[in-house]
Amino acid sequence: MYKPIAWIITIGNELLVGRIVDTNAAWLASRLTFLGASVRRIVTVGDTVDDIVAVLRDALASSDIVVTTGGLGPTDDDITMEAVAAALNLPLVLNREALEHVSRFYSTKPAELTRERLKMALLPLGAKPIPNPVGAAPGAHVSVGRSELFVLPGVPREMKPMFDSYVADKLKPILPELCVREKSVVVKGVAEADLAPLLRRASRECVSCYVKSHPKGHEAESPLVDVRVLASAPTCEEADAMAQRVIGRLMELVGGGGGGGASSSVR
Ligand code: ATP
Repeated sequence: MYKPIAWIITIGNELLVGRIVDTNAAWLASRLTFLGASVRRIVTVGDTVDDIVAVLRDALASSDIVVTTGGLGPTDDDITMEAVAAALNLPLVLNREALEHVSRFYSTKPAELTRERLKMALLPLGAKPIPNPVGAAPGAHVSVGRSELFVLPGVPREMKPMFDSYVADKLKPILPELCVREKSVVVKGVAEADLAPLLRRASRECVSCYVKSHPKGHEAESPLVDVRVLASAPTCEEADAMAQRVIGRLMELVGGGGGGGASSSVR
């Protein structure tokens, strides 16, 4: 089953110095995964045009979907659009629709359309502006060969509605008609290393599922392992059943002596 390959690029020096936790990447990874894409890489780069250009070119050469966040604001270190234009060898031009968006945003506020504000209406030639329902800076959407590139702001409360209302819709034609579901079980009393062979056997119930254990308790004294099973299928019923087969088999194996006094609970 083919899943389009996605890369997520988060941009900002504040991410590289540890001042901000990259919640955008985790949120986008989850959204894209449950929409049926295969997220292959998450890359964080600073506010440097050459670094952004290099990662964008890598991403566009090897994926179907590229989503960036950050660096769309009015300040001099907001250089994402400039880097996108450079990566695509396109000029950065004043986009009429983007200008209307920026003008509308400031029309109710006592603010002039200064050079800094007009900068937010500069998009690579041919890019479509992505409406920003919360902030001043619109995003941008460019189709480049096999890839769809979406450039979104860094502020999570701006980025999330823009993804849900625009990006998810534009991705529909290239995403498979799949339902992606996750089931989990917490296994108590079995160390992760002892659970591994049981997990290997249980995973044979669904070879296309992604099965992962996450140790939560103390490995030797009070082991507690959270097992997650991600399944994709044409219908949600099938995806649920596939994940449930793995969980059911694992519980049988744990209960059948493999875990020695183990208990488990399914979520
Ligand atoms: P704006 O249009 O509002 O200026 P922007 O696209 O320029 O947004 P940035 O300047 O890169 O965004 O970041 C603005 C703020 O958004 C950061 O100070 C931080 O609070 C938040 N932010 C940026 N990137 C991320 C991220 N990857 N994860 C979580 N929060 C982030």
